[in-house]
This record gives sequence, C-alpha cells and structure tokens, in this order.
Amino acid sequence: MLKSELEYCMICGNPNPQDQPICACGGRNFIFGNDFTYDNKELVCGCGCKGFVLSFHMNNSPIHTKNYKCVGCGNIVGIQSYHKSPYED
Ligand SMILES: [Zn+2]
Ligand SMILES: [Zn+2]
Repeated sequence: MLKSELEYCMICGNPNPQDQPICACGGRNFIFGNDFTYDNKELVCGCGCKGFVLSFHMNNSPIHTKNYKCVGCGNIVGIQSYHKSPYED
C-alpha cells in the first residue's frame, strides 16, 4: 500500500496528522502521499505537473480511497473521502 508522508484536509487545506481521522474543522476528506503540494487546495506534484489520472479506487464504506497518478512522473497521491451510508445511523 501507499506509504504517505504528507496529509492535508481537503476541507480547510491544513496539514492533518495521520493518526487523526477527523480534522479540527470537522472534515473527513484527506489528500495524502509523498512529494506534492496542496496550496490553496490545488494539487501540484513535486515534479511541477498538475495533471493526475485515477489509477485505483477502493470502496471500504464509509471510507473511499482513490489513488491518482501524476501524468508527468508517475507519483501516486491518494484521496480519502468519507461517505456515510444514508441507511446507517
Ligand atoms: Zn480541516
Ligand atoms: Zn509528477
């Protein structure tokens, strides 16, 4: 699996410790990986490329993980999103 060194909340854009499942802002959607920046909620690979393609999707409800691959260098960045089922309380 992807070993990530960086993690940011996608709601507020702040760095998030990886052992913290919910951001201080209440956000549960995170972007994580290595060698990228997430300034002003814009994902830019360490190689300078902004183009990413979906390479992997895992549905582990309520946590959904998508891996995106940089079209320039192949760097993988993961996005974790939280979708709670409307049928569960
Ligand atoms: Zn946040
Ligand atoms: Zn790249």
